[in-house]
Amino acid sequence: MSYPQLHMIIDGEKIPVAHRRVHTVVNPASGAALGDLPLADQADLERALAAAQRGFRLWRDTPAAQRAAVLTGAARLLRERQEEIARIATLEEGKPLAEARIEVMMNVNLFEFYAGECQRFYGRELVRPPGMRSTVVCEPVGPVAAFAPWNFPIGNPGRKLGAPVAAGCSVILKAAEEAPGSALAVLQCLLDAGLPQEVGQAVFGVPDEVSRHLLASPIIRKLSFTGSTAVGKHLMKLAAEDCKRTTMELGGHAPVLVFDDVDVEQVLKVMVPSKHRNAGQVCVSPTRFIVQEGIYRRFRDGFVEHAARLRVGNGLDESVQMGPMANPRRPEAMERLIGGAVRAGAKLHTGGRRLGEQGYYYAPTVLSEVPQSAPIMNEEPFGPVALINPFRTEEEMIAEANRLPYGLAAFSWTGDCGRQRRLAREVESGMLCINTTALGGSDAPFGGVKWSGHGSENGPEGVMACLVVKAVHEG
Ligand code: NAD
Repeated sequence: MSYPQLHMIIDGEKIPVAHRRVHTVVNPASGAALGDLPLADQADLERALAAAQRGFRLWRDTPAAQRAAVLTGAARLLRERQEEIARIATLEEGKPLAEARIEVMMNVNLFEFYAGECQRFYGRELVRPPGMRSTVVCEPVGPVAAFAPWNFPIGNPGRKLGAPVAAGCSVILKAAEEAPGSALAVLQCLLDAGLPQEVGQAVFGVPDEVSRHLLASPIIRKLSFTGSTAVGKHLMKLAAEDCKRTTMELGGHAPVLVFDDVDVEQVLKVMVPSKHRNAGQVCVSPTRFIVQEGIYRRFRDGFVEHAARLRVGNGLDESVQMGPMANPRRPEAMERLIGGAVRAGAKLHTGGRRLGEQGYYYAPTVLSEVPQSAPIMNEEPFGPVALINPFRTEEEMIAEANRLPYGLAAFSWTGDCGRQRRLAREVESGMLCINTTALGGSDAPFGGVKWSGHGSENGPEGVMACLVVKAVHEG
C-alpha cells in the first residue's frame, strides 16, 4: 500500500508543501523516506487562529444533537477506513498492524461515547426566593490548541479532537511531525462527517515555533498536551502567561507490584505482551517490576524466557509481535539507559542490543537487581525494557512504587482482598490496575498525578475538561 500525500488542513484547505519548509517522514522499519510534510509558517498559523475563532462561535451555538451526529458519522467512517488508517500508522510509527487496528477501534468507541456524552451537559437551577433565579451552566472553554505525540498516531489525535468537538470548542491540532498521516486521516473522518471546516484543523511545524505562536494568542483558551514531562512543564509556563486552561498527559514510570500469592505463569502471560506493546513506547507501559522475594527468581526467569521468544520485525508482517522503535532517538536512549544500568551493577538477562542492519529495532531486554541510582530507575525508558527487583514486605514495595515523582499508571497482582484495598488507597497514581492491565475504555478517565500531569482524557471527565461553568444570578 502507498503512503498518502501529506498536507496541513487549515480552514478546510489542504495546504501542500509549495514554498514551505518540510519534514521528511521516515518508515522506522527500514529508515526509508515515506514523504514530505509541509511545516507551517507564521501566516499559516495566523490563518488557522482566525478560522478557529470563527469556528468556535459557530460550533458553540450548534445544537448538541448535531455535534453528536458528526461524532457518530466520524466513528462510522473510521470503522470503514480501519484497514487503510491502520496501515498508515504502521508505516509511519512501526507498531504491528494488529495494534494499529485496535487503535482505530479505540477512536470509534471514543467518538461514539462522546456523541452520547455531549448531549448530557446538565446545568442546575439553585433554590432562590420568588422573583430571583440562579442557574449554573456549562459552556465550551473556547478554541483549543492540542499537541499529540507519535506513539499512538491514531489514538492520540482522536482524543485531542474528540473532546473539544463534543464540548462545542474549535481545535487546532498539531500532531507529531513523525506520524502525520494517521492524524490527518482521523481529522478527515470528522470533516467528511460534517464537521465545519473552521472547527477542526491540523497544522505541523517546528514544535517550539508552533506552540509558542498558538499559546501566545489570546484566541486560544485551552492547551491540551500529551508528551514528555520536560516539554509539558515548558508548555505549562507558556500557557500560564495567558492563564489558559490545561490538560497535561505526561510521562510515567509504571510500577508493577507482584506479591507471593499469585500464579506466576498467569501473570507473565499478561505482563510480558503488555510490556512490549508498541515496543514499550507507551506512557502506561509496565516498567519497574517490584516482586516479592518468594516468587522473585521464578518470575524473573519466566519473564526472560517469554521476552526472549517474542517475534520482532516489520509491523506489516502479521506474525510479528513487536515492531521497530518509532525513531532513531529511541534505540539511542535504550543504549544510554541500559548501558548505564549495567555499568551501575544491574544484571542483563536478555536483549541489551539493537537488531538488524536497517530500521530502529531494539531487542526485548530484561534487567534485574538494578540499583536505584541508575538513571533507568528514575527516567522514563519508553522502550522494550523490564526492570525486575526483589522486595520483602508490602510496605517496602509500596514505598518503591511511590518513590518517583511520576504517577500515571500502576499495576499490582495479588489475591489478598485486604491488600488490594490498601494498595488502592496508598499507591500514588492516576490509574491503578489490580490483577488486570485493562485500564483503557472510552468511559474511563485517563490521566496522571504529580509529574505525570493533570486533567483527564476519555470518560465524562474528558469532555468536562473542555467546559467552563458559569453561575448566572437574576434578580
Ligand atoms: P520530546 O519530549 O521532544 O517530544 C515529545 C512530544 O512532544 C513529541 O510529539 C514532540 O513533537 C512534542 N514536542 C516537543 N517539543 C515541543 C514543543 N516545544 N511544543 C510542542 N510540542 C513539542 O521527545 P521525543 O523524543 O519525541 O520523546 C521522548 C520522550 O517523550 C519519551 O521518552 C517519553 O518520555 C515522552 N513521550 C511521552 C508520550 C506520552 O504518551 N506521554 C508520548 C511520546 C513521548
